[in-house]
Amino acid sequence: MGTTETTQGSLEELLSRCSDAAQRREPPSRADALAVLGASDEDTLAVVSAAARFRRESFGNTVKLNYLVNVRSGLCPEDCNYCSQRRGSEAGILTYDNVGADVVAEAVGRAVDSGAARVCLVASGRGPSERDIEHMAESVMAVHDVHPGLEVCACLGILGEGQAEQLADAGVFAYNHNLNTSESHYGEICSTHGYDDRVETVDRAREAGLSPCSGALFGMGESDDDIVDVAHGLRELAPDSVPLNFLIPIDGTPMAGRRELTPQRCLRILALYRFMFPDTEIRIAGGREVHLRSVQGLGLELANSIFVGDYLTTEGQDANADLDLLADWGFVPLEIDGPGAADATVPTARSRRDDGVRIRRRGVGAGSSSTH
Ligand code: SF4
Repeated sequence: MGTTETTQGSLEELLSRCSDAAQRREPPSRADALAVLGASDEDTLAVVSAAARFRRESFGNTVKLNYLVNVRSGLCPEDCNYCSQRRGSEAGILTYDNVGADVVAEAVGRAVDSGAARVCLVASGRGPSERDIEHMAESVMAVHDVHPGLEVCACLGILGEGQAEQLADAGVFAYNHNLNTSESHYGEICSTHGYDDRVETVDRAREAGLSPCSGALFGMGESDDDIVDVAHGLRELAPDSVPLNFLIPIDGTPMAGRRELTPQRCLRILALYRFMFPDTEIRIAGGREVHLRSVQGLGLELANSIFVGDYLTTEGQDANADLDLLADWGFVPLEIDGPGAADATVPTARSRRDDGVRIRRRGVGAGSSSTH
């Protein structure tokens, strides 16, 4: 079976060991995790098939649709190399301060109409000020006035003492803060905060009763060992959901033009994370269209959650294309509320560039922002 040989036998034996470990809710050995990442392209379908069993066992054929609202864009003092909102960014993105709660609620309404089961309200910056926390509270209240019970996830950066509790009191359901990469690689992607800051924030969110959401970002020069390490770091945080991002190499950032990923490599990473998190929500986040491209359906055999609509500063594919993708692969959106798939209203106009990266010019903040 296949061409991938490990030091401990055939691909079939490797996948059997990984599956047995996942069945026990244990991670695969480091050697086996590295072997999954190092499997040949020819064997990748077999790797996907073995890991996909756990996705189907836990989530059936459902896909949770999430929607991002960038409530404040750009001008961040931090220097994350992958981020178009970092200080000194020359990415030409939309920049604006906190948009009004009414603008947030309106965007969320469109998302719900497109089938979103969770909305993620994201603000650029190192961490929230008291004013930002109040703004988030107002926004959540405005959202829940129209869609009571809708899951709201906040993503506001590093949380100070007591801020997670304030967000929980305001009705925030989940908090996202990604580890992004391994502790040993973290210094290569950011100098203004560290891995430990991120761990502490996820801990604070969980301790305050917020549903912890934390994941990783790939394609930033990390080694296979880094990919395994950050998976172990995430397991220690026991997140309820794990967003997996694939670098969108935006012009004007230090990582512009970086193209390390292939669709098959993305699938192997997703498969490894499914073995590591057999019954945890895994979301394919940024970079799905850019890197998985025509194998997005196979990605859904591993992940059970995606974002619909646009990303923070770049455009995603049309929501109808996402819904077609689900239907073509026999998946159904989880908890559709509102008019549903047939009425999805995300604009179809786009200015596709050859590399598939499109700076967002529409949606929240587009009418009142500047670009830089
Ligand atoms: S990832 Fe967040 S903290 Fe880092 S530069 Fe971007 S907006 Fe700022």
